[in-house]
Amino acid sequence: MNKPKLVAGNWKMNTTLSEGIALLESIIKGVKLLKTNTKIAIAPPFTHLSEFRKALKNTDVCLAAQNVSDKLQGAFTGEISALMLKDLGVKKAIVAHSERRQYFGETNESALFKIKTLLKQDIHPIYCVGELLEDRERERHFEVVEEQITTVLYQLTEEKLPKLTIAYEPVWAIGTGKTATPEQANEMHEFIRAVIAKRFGEDLAGQVMILYGGSVNSGNASALMAQPQIDGALVGGASLKAEEFIAIIKAA
Ligand code: PGA
Repeated sequence: MNKPKLVAGNWKMNTTLSEGIALLESIIKGVKLLKTNTKIAIAPPFTHLSEFRKALKNTDVCLAAQNVSDKLQGAFTGEISALMLKDLGVKKAIVAHSERRQYFGETNESALFKIKTLLKQDIHPIYCVGELLEDRERERHFEVVEEQITTVLYQLTEEKLPKLTIAYEPVWAIGTGKTATPEQANEMHEFIRAVIAKRFGEDLAGQVMILYGGSVNSGNASALMAQPQIDGALVGGASLKAEEFIAIIKAA
């Protein structure tokens, strides 16, 4: 599998617009010097998207959103639709991040609706899956992830599948400084691919990008990215420091 890797930065609810632009400019500068094949995406807060679109013109960095409504338009106060994101030049969107599942009650079912509305606008979803610490301790991690994959992906048609990216983010590794070992991550990625292959065949399963996320930093990125089943990283905390983020892209 020699597809180029993808490194996506999830800024979460961080930076004002001016701070964000300064950070983005440092990242763009760093990326230009790297001359890398690795694909790069940045998911800033919604409030930054319009300005970031201008700043990213003539770069290879892709604009991403952190979330999307499962509705297209109408009386849904506070929501932002795939149509609005498309209008701002957004190419990818994170769906069902574990913080959305944990604090905002998102489920596999709502994730499927969101993925469908994104795909209709030709925005590529980054669908987050991953087990809680207690799932891993009870050795239920494969079961939990399998359900997250089958309830959503098995509802999609074959031609949509290559547009989807999966991010495996064990919840116990997010923002905690604890990373899954490269072997643990690779093992789960291999499992996810096998679950996809069961329904869609090996070829299509091989085309789906599977990112690892959870405390990825410049120190652990090389070992993670060297694993055969890891196609890139979804980076939270370390994407808020230009040097760290660039080092991770370099490691990919
Ligand atoms: P982290 O976050 O890198 O800060 O652990 C990853 C994520 O939540 O996507």
